[in-house]
Parts: sequence; C-alpha cells; structure tokens
Amino acid sequence: MRHSRTYRGLVVEQNEPRIYTRRIVERTSVSGQQGEVVIQVRHSAVNYKDALSATGHPGVTRQFPHIPGIDAAGYVLSAPSGKWQPGQEVLVTGFDLGMETDGGWGEQICVPESWVIPLPAGLTTRTAMALGTAGFTAALSIQTLENAGLTPLSGEVLVTGATGGVGSLAVAMLAKSGYQVMALSGKADKEAFLYGLGAKAVLTRDELLQNQERPLLKERFAAVVDVVGGDVLAAALKATCYGGAVTCCGLVGSFELNLNVYPFILRGVSLFGIDSVHYPADKRPALWQRMANSYLPEHLEAVITDITLEQLEPAIHGILHGQTSGRIVVHHQLFRRGDRLLHMS
Ligand code: NDP
Repeated sequence: MRHSRTYRGLVVEQNEPRIYTRRIVERTSVSGQQGEVVIQVRHSAVNYKDALSATGHPGVTRQFPHIPGIDAAGYVLSAPSGKWQPGQEVLVTGFDLGMETDGGWGEQICVPESWVIPLPAGLTTRTAMALGTAGFTAALSIQTLENAGLTPLSGEVLVTGATGGVGSLAVAMLAKSGYQVMALSGKADKEAFLYGLGAKAVLTRDELLQNQERPLLKERFAAVVDVVGGDVLAAALKATCYGGAVTCCGLVGSFELNLNVYPFILRGVSLFGIDSVHYPADKRPALWQRMANSYLPEHLEAVITDITLEQLEPAIHGILHGQTSGRIVVHHQLFRRGDRLLHMS
C-alpha cells in the first residue's frame, strides 16, 4: 500500500471574524510520530456536529484552517509503534477527531493510536460510517437503557428526532432487538421511511407537546432515546411510565431543560446522559461488535445517502436546518493522478 504524497480534504477557513469559507484543497501527507497512526480514509460521514464545525461554531472548533469529520474509516498507512499494521482496516470516532484535530473529510488523518479501533468483522468501511458516531450514540443509549432494566417486554420506547442520524439508527436498532418503537418526527412526509425502519407508530411533535404545561402527563413510554432536548425532552420525561428510563444525548431543539422534579420523585424515572466522545477506548470494540451483530439494523441501506467531498456543501446546510434524514456517508475517491489504485467503490 503506497503512501500517497498528497491528499485532498474539505478545509474550513476563517477569513474575517465570524466569516467561514469552505473549499477542497490538496495537502501534503504527514508521517506519524511515535504513538500516532496515519490512516487513509475511505469513508466518513456528516453529523450535526460536523456541520457546526464547518460553519465555525466555537463550541466545536476554534482553530482554523480545519478539516471537519468526527467519523473516519479506512486502513492504516503507517504506525511507528508497530501496534497497527499497514493495510489493517480501522475506524475512529469521537475523541478530538474533527474538532481541533483534522478529521475524516480529509483523505488522510493522523491520530493518537489509542483512538483507533479495528474495523469490526461484518462491517465494511462504508457500513461502519453509515453507523459512525450516530450509530455508536444510538447503541450507547440502548445499552444504557438495557443496563437500567429495559427489555422488549417493558413497553413502548420513544425515539425523538427519529428521522435524523442518531434517531433513525436508534429506531432501527431497537426494532431489530424486538422493541415496540414510537418514532417522534417533525417530518410528516417521512412516515413510510420510519415504518420501513421498524417503527410501530409515528408521533408528531405537536402530539407529544400537547398539555406540556401540566406537571405530569399520562404514562406512555417505558423508555425514551432523546436527541432533541428542550421541551421535547421535558414532555418525554413527563410521559415516561413508573420506573422508566430516558437517555439524553442531543440539543437540536434546545440545550435548555425546563422541568419539575415530579417525574423523578413520583414515578422513579431516571435520566441518563450519553457521551460518545470520551467513552472509554477499552470499551469501544465490544460495543462496535454489538453494532455489527445484534444491533445491526436490518435495513441499514435504507438510511444511507452516499456523497462525495464535492457534495458536502448542501449536506452541511441540510443537516443544520433539520432537513436531512438518515445517514450521509462521504466517499473519498482515492484514484487519481499517478497514485496507485487505492480504492474504487
Ligand atoms: P441530525 O440532524 O441527523 O438529526 C436530528 C433530528 O432532530 C432531525 O433530523 C429532526 O428529526 C430533529 N430536529 C431537528 N431540529 C429540530 C428542532 N428544532 N426541534 C425538534 N427536533 C428537531 O443530527 P444527529 O442525529 O447527528 O445528532 C442529533 C443530536 O445528537 C445533535 O444535537 C448532536 O449534537 C447530538 N449528538 C450527541 C452525541 C453525544 O455523544 N452526546 C453524539 C452524536 C450526536 P425529525 O424531523 O424526525 O424530528
């Protein structure tokens, strides 16, 4: 496997305060230092957080120029420590990838070896990126609920932001595991998509938010996977059954939570925070293996939209405005100008 001397990536530049521009540039490859791994990235993805990084959100990225992409899968080009072998297929999600460290929207990344995990058996670099941080977060949410006692016999499980990356994979993984899934979505035209992923019912946001001024709502959900935050999370907590559990990972609706304590002290409801970014490295391979096996959605292809670097611009705007659905997988086309054929599909 020859190490290409240059690689392409979508670079975000800050030309004036708060003005960010994006363009595809060619960069010179780096050789990793001791403890680092240089990876030829075949596939990446578009996450909500990537769109924030690409538009200069200071909560994600402060140093520019920068290449976003919190997900990357490909093969090892070099690893001075010898822990990873050239050609070995690997993936990286989370940690600082795509935040202040250049990420998977570039054809090569150089990362600490502790961030790298082997590509799980049964996944390709493309299907691994269809899962990516979103799938990892969905799986972590489900695992957390199951550790709290949830089983398919407990009752219905609500998933909010259901057509999005985390939401659609949570719906599909829960359905695969035998749960009755209620999918909450703001997109009336995506009902068929959600039923296709295995949802038992589709709820509108207005339906959930009815009577939200009340301190508690009728008990409906055995558990909730929430990506929205704000009023949606508050209403979901108020409608969770006695002893139920709720996970919170996102803030697309709001980072605020206006709530009383009744769901916790009268119904024994538990609220669990989910953080995929710093989830311990030594526990990751087991969860990824689960994602490649028992959690693997039956209809993973149904959530995938494939794009190239050149098609990132509309994807960034679409995801920022809640208009995308499923997972957007970025393909690097690594066959060009004098380089050996590295990747064709
Ligand atoms: P997506 O944009 O793919 O999905 C979010 C979905 O939420 C949308 O598709 C839409 O679904 C719904 N939505 C969007 N805007 C609103 C709104 N204003 N009010 C209510 N619902 C809305 O994002 P991701 O799935 O990639 O990420 C979801 C959230 O989870 C983000 O906040 C992200 O930062 C967070 N996240 C956190 C992680 C962690 O480790 N804690 C890891 C990964 C993501 P619909 O139209 O169907 O309602």
